[in-house]
Amino acid sequence: MRMLFAGNWKMNGVNASLAEVRALKRALADEPARGDVLVCPPFTLLAGAAKAVEGSPIGVGGQDCHASASGAFTGDVSAEMLRDAGATAVIVGHSERRQYHADTNQIVAAKVAAARRAGLTAILCVGESDAEREAGQAVQTVVTQLEASIPGDVAAANLAVAYEPVWAIGTGKTPKPADIQEMHDAVRALLKKRFGAGASALRILYGGSVKPDNARDILSVPNVDGALVGGASLKAADFLAIIRAAPKR
Ligand code: PEP
Repeated sequence: MRMLFAGNWKMNGVNASLAEVRALKRALADEPARGDVLVCPPFTLLAGAAKAVEGSPIGVGGQDCHASASGAFTGDVSAEMLRDAGATAVIVGHSERRQYHADTNQIVAAKVAAARRAGLTAILCVGESDAEREAGQAVQTVVTQLEASIPGDVAAANLAVAYEPVWAIGTGKTPKPADIQEMHDAVRALLKKRFGAGASALRILYGGSVKPDNARDILSVPNVDGALVGGASLKAADFLAIIRAAPKR
């Protein structure tokens, strides 16, 4: 299946940073990517990024959304607003939202449903903590989290899953390829149970310290259908090096 490379800028970037998006666009025009490319800047840059990628295959996405379409939720942004600003996707359930904003599985499931309502692809993040992996509970933790974070009425076509071990995010540490494969196989099995044949086209991304020098090894793992990239997506050159590391499938 075609891979997906999603860049999560987190709370980084000002208008001048859109130069990186333009650089990405120029490079991909010269040599198209072997996969779909998505940039998820902060809300303030969403419309600017959407304008910057016009006429290219690069998409833009949000980093979170509220479950409601509108209302008295000061500081929040809805999936419909993201769509209106030019987004085609939204990251939901990122561990930083779960940790700092108390997003529970139930809230995350409501956000996935909101993404569907607005016509966005939800990139649903799940991952175990260091302690859970040390205790031998990584797979069970992630499977339980995923089961509880997928709402009843979502279609496989509106969804991608990102496996992001919490201990690997922003730390420079990554799981062994065999551990990534074990997790992605377990996620695929769960998705098959949930979506049947539709699950085989559902992309399972790996996220957590993906860098130009480890991307090929990670992207070569079976059932890894792309990457969710944080820090290394801020510079077009690094993000491109990761995108270029995708093996032919
Ligand atoms: C992320 O924020 O989703 C992420 C994977 O970050 P990093 O690549 O910096 O570890």
